[in-house]
Amino acid sequence: MKKQKTKEQAQSGISKTCPGPMVFSKGAVISEPGSTMKYKTGNWRTYKPVIERAKCIKCGICWANCPDAAIKKDSDGTFIVDYDYCKGCLICDKLCPVKAISHGVEQK
Ligand code: SF4
Ligand code: SF4
Repeated sequence: MKKQKTKEQAQSGISKTCPGPMVFSKGAVISEPGSTMKYKTGNWRTYKPVIERAKCIKCGICWANCPDAAIKKDSDGTFIVDYDYCKGCLICDKLCPVKAISHGVEQK
């Protein structure tokens, strides 16, 4: 038996019944495995995080949580942002326990 839509569902166009399997069209094609480093993603960043070296306690929280692996270690063990890959999500800024990371709007 076919279920009747509620008045609200009919008005909103939203159905509470399962629409069935979702079919996605093809998106990006990875033609060469392991090629991530070739694609620099930092050029469309809106916010730019900046690590203040003097405040950094080298805990590595920013490094461990950066979704783009855009935080690297300097020769003296201080963490630095690789702006070629940083997308400006500011997760690092949010998580830094000593507020050593600040941010501003990226200047192009
Ligand atoms: S989270 Fe903050 S204190 Fe920890 S390594 Fe990163 S910048 Fe330094
Ligand atoms: S802003 Fe986001 S992408 Fe950039 S270094 Fe911080 S966590 Fe990584």
